[in-house]
Amino acid sequence: MIEKLIKKSVNQLSAYEPVEQGEGIRLDSNENTLVPYLLNQKIAAALLKLNVNRYPDPNSSELIKLVAAKNRVGLDEAIIGSGSDQLIGMILNAFINEGDRIVTQAPTFSMYKISNQIMGGETVEVDMGSSFSFDYYSFIKVVKQVQPKVVFLTNPNNPTGGIIPREQIIKIIEHSNGIVVVDEAYYEFYGTTAADLIHYYPNLIVLRTLSKAYGLAGARIGYAIASKQLISTLKKVKPPYNISSLDQTAAKICLENQELFNGAINEIIEQRKSLMDGLNEIPEVESFESYGNFILLRVDSAEKLYEYLKDRRIFVRYYEGEGLLKNCIRVTVGTATENQGFMEVVRRYFGLQK
Ligand code: PMP
Repeated sequence: MIEKLIKKSVNQLSAYEPVEQGEGIRLDSNENTLVPYLLNQKIAAALLKLNVNRYPDPNSSELIKLVAAKNRVGLDEAIIGSGSDQLIGMILNAFINEGDRIVTQAPTFSMYKISNQIMGGETVEVDMGSSFSFDYYSFIKVVKQVQPKVVFLTNPNNPTGGIIPREQIIKIIEHSNGIVVVDEAYYEFYGTTAADLIHYYPNLIVLRTLSKAYGLAGARIGYAIASKQLISTLKKVKPPYNISSLDQTAAKICLENQELFNGAINEIIEQRKSLMDGLNEIPEVESFESYGNFILLRVDSAEKLYEYLKDRRIFVRYYEGEGLLKNCIRVTVGTATENQGFMEVVRRYFGLQK
């Protein structure tokens, strides 16, 4: 009986079930393993002072102040979400009716399509081809043809690691009659943003997260910056107390202590280069240039390499199935020790090391 009541679009979905990992080297979720120890201490001290019997600030006002100052936008041009995942859901909730269309590149972050499906929307994907580079001409053609309500650009893109040049982002915004979302989850590892463009384009939303560079994946904090009109629209669909006081506190400490992260971010960028150099020395591995804290690679029979790594308790992301990501594995850039551990096992797999 319940089966018949469920929305058709929801019935067709499978629940998000991450692979169970356990102890080992975890390079599967693009988290930050270089979180400064001092930060955890500061968060713990601040949490001791919290009164959790009270509801949290529904607008996360303290956080908004920090986010607005950091990005040079007004207090009414930012909103906080429980991870950028929630903001993606809120954007689609505000704009997508059944049958409405969104355009994304493919492959890309899966949540755009999943959240859109829940809304009953249709996702038109622009295939990047096997080189995994952004195909601007095909993309703009599709945007003009489809006239989507929402366009998602992921910059840098997950899982391919590539970027979209700023001039192309501007052209896409200018050719869109709908909303353009630029998801900058990995901004800190790239350094170029479209955030300043919100002052010129009222249909632009820039998404950021504290889950990656700021090592706060467990607290679930993302934010959007956009025109006043777009932010006030998103506020209408925001669940009332969407960020717990514990998470607001942790995020505040993170944003107030930016200097603690600069070293870690630079270290990850350096480690990304060493990891790439190591991978490039293996002829059987094809790797893709990355501006994120991860690298996508393609090998013959990727599942075998994935299982080999897993048996040695090194966890990476493997894309099952026959799609565009066939035979691809995504590895998060970890600490020097983690990356060395990963490379040793990969070299052993290919018979390059005992
Ligand atoms: N956008 C992109 C491109 C991502 O890769 C991720 C996480 N994998 C997210 C958004 C969601 O991040 P969170 O919900 O943790 O902020």
